[in-house]
Amino acid sequence: SAQPLTGRVAVVTGASSGIGEATAEHLAGLGARVAVLARRADRLDSLVARITKNGGTALAIAVDVTDAAALRSAADRVAAELGTADLLFNNAGVMLPAPVEELATDQWQRQIDLNITGLMNAIGAFIPQLVASAGERGVADLINTSSIAAQNLFPTFAVYSGTKAYVTHLSRTLRTELGAKNVRVSALEPGIVGTELQDHVTDDGALQWLEGSKETMDWLTPQDIAETVGFIAALPPRVNLQQVTVMPTRQP
Ligand code: NDP
Repeated sequence: SAQPLTGRVAVVTGASSGIGEATAEHLAGLGARVAVLARRADRLDSLVARITKNGGTALAIAVDVTDAAALRSAADRVAAELGTADLLFNNAGVMLPAPVEELATDQWQRQIDLNITGLMNAIGAFIPQLVASAGERGVADLINTSSIAAQNLFPTFAVYSGTKAYVTHLSRTLRTELGAKNVRVSALEPGIVGTELQDHVTDDGALQWLEGSKETMDWLTPQDIAETVGFIAALPPRVNLQQVTVMPTRQP
């Protein structure tokens, strides 16, 4: 087939909604076999049904990425049922802004557990497959979802921004190690995308800021990010987009 990702095996975390869901569907449309991971099994099942109906191949694995052992089992299932993974879209994440003085320590911990520890768990579970497939086929991709918050400053987003700065810097550093093995590493840094991410926000100030921003700009759509991921993955093996910022045109 002439599709750009035919023969590739992609794993998408956070695939039950938003960016991950759109990206899984897009990568399947480009010919990849796709494993979709998140906690909500019902959402994953309907995504797989949609992909299958459109002629693609997908596997749903309900898993909490903060559970390292469960992710290692998921990785074994991917290898057995779809083949050795050569693309990890490491995307599950949560954004819970709040003024630091509120000491919302539970929310701090949730962001660190998912955005940092969950991301590392997925890297730990799938890196052997990425390295093996790159060795055999000449290229593999580790694409980590960071955020513009890794670079720009937003009051009350300190903990979230810190987790995303971690993701960007981790990605740049891993590149220096994995590039030699033909594993490309990319940090994807979107500006505001309309997803369920905003639904988990409880802080009034942040909610007002988000709501107000809709009046001054068109937010990005999950599809916009999905197409960016597809572009990164379909590049010739010698080309690694290290850091990609995707902004709504009118977001400053
Ligand atoms: P969504 O809330 O729509 O998606 C988050 C996904 O993560 C869901 O599929 C959710 O599924 C999954 N998830 C949450 N907790 C866990 C867990 N413990 N284990 C496994 N999966 C989990 O938001 P987005 O699509 O916007 O977010 C995707 C990524 O994009 C995040 O990393 C976010 O930080 C980043 N981002 C988003 C931006 C935006 O404006 N939307 C901007 C910049 C970056 P489930 O609940 O079923 O487990």
